[in-house]
Amino acid sequence: MKNIAIVGCGGMGSGHAIAIASGTGNAIWAELPVQTEGKLQETDSDLGDLLHLAGICDIDPDRVQWAKERGYRIYDCYQDILDDPAVDIVLIATPNHLHKDEAILAMRAGKHVLCEKPVMMNSAELEKVMAVAAESGKVFYPRQNRRWDKDYMIVKKILQDGMLGKVFSIECRVQGSRGIPGDWRAKKEFGGGMMLDWGVHLLDRLLAMVPEKVTHVFCDLTHVTTSEVDDGFKLHLTFESGLTASVEVGTCHFAALPLWFVAGEHGTAVIDNWECTGKIVRLHSWEDKDAKPILAGAGLTKTMAPRGDGSVQELPLPEVEYDNNELYVNLLETIDGKAAQIVTNDHALRVLRLMETAVRSSETHSVLAFETHIN
Ligand code: NAD
Repeated sequence: MKNIAIVGCGGMGSGHAIAIASGTGNAIWAELPVQTEGKLQETDSDLGDLLHLAGICDIDPDRVQWAKERGYRIYDCYQDILDDPAVDIVLIATPNHLHKDEAILAMRAGKHVLCEKPVMMNSAELEKVMAVAAESGKVFYPRQNRRWDKDYMIVKKILQDGMLGKVFSIECRVQGSRGIPGDWRAKKEFGGGMMLDWGVHLLDRLLAMVPEKVTHVFCDLTHVTTSEVDDGFKLHLTFESGLTASVEVGTCHFAALPLWFVAGEHGTAVIDNWECTGKIVRLHSWEDKDAKPILAGAGLTKTMAPRGDGSVQELPLPEVEYDNNELYVNLLETIDGKAAQIVTNDHALRVLRLMETAVRSSETHSVLAFETHIN
């Protein structure tokens, strides 16, 4: 059993507090916005015997009151967490600009760190934190929880099982309509902006799924509702095999395109939403004897005419089984030397560097080379 203390008990920190105190871990998210009890899937690890909530610390009296009402121990300040010998792990869930100093202080105080995404504001910060992790021998773990999203798990399985033949294009996106939240996320100095907020999730997953170097990057950051930070972006990546990926985050979309649109030489997969409705359409035969031109708008087309029955087949998306709590469990096993870190710091560094290249691409309106110098 390891004791974990949380610094920053806002939206995410309070979710962690409930998840850990109840022993249900990420299974609790399925119950939002009720946030009272989680439901474990058969495949989910029960964290009850593995992780204990030592307490929380927050500078906002309302958040402290919230935690008190739930019976959680309150640390008056961050130093009190660091001084508590019972605390094994510090979970950092404060705004992004605080992550670096909090992580370094924790590891120097002999604590392991689970750090919310984006782990750092930039790659230079992460390099410093990785150096402290190496010198202190403590685990620093990036919390890229969206590796365990069902939609991502499905796409990963589709690719791994070769269900679409050779994949030549991957689109993934999230589109909302509420603009950028008016809190610290709207301020540059606090690590705001959607590239750091959502971009880090989408790029973490994409790079974890495609085992190839990225050769070229082109990005347009958007400023539809804000000027100080980006409120979204469109990013185009080319991998060394020629595979391309389009990654998009939008916060001013009142209708949404599918979360995923994956095209292969023998099939196409679509995932519409987080409920994971969607389909795979698989090619049986290129030949389509019934092909006839259709009237399309002001003209005729055979190229774009739907295929006749028989040359393609519609299939449901594959079922996936996974452990919602694998990240927490992997953190604990990494600390005990029983497993390798699933979300590695090298990977987090690669993602931060990619995001930095994307921002430069947007600023210079140019296609930039990436990773071509790495052997
Ligand atoms: P939030 O504003 O809701 O919560 C942040 C909390 O930190 C607040 O309660 C604030 O009072 C507290 N805080 C600020 N400075 C502090 C300090 N010096 N000491 C102690 N507490 C302090 O923000 P949030 O949405 O919970 O985001 C927090 C972190 O979690 C961010 O890094 C964010 O990117 C991340 N996050 C991750 C996910 C995910 O899915 N992994 C989702 C949401 C947020």
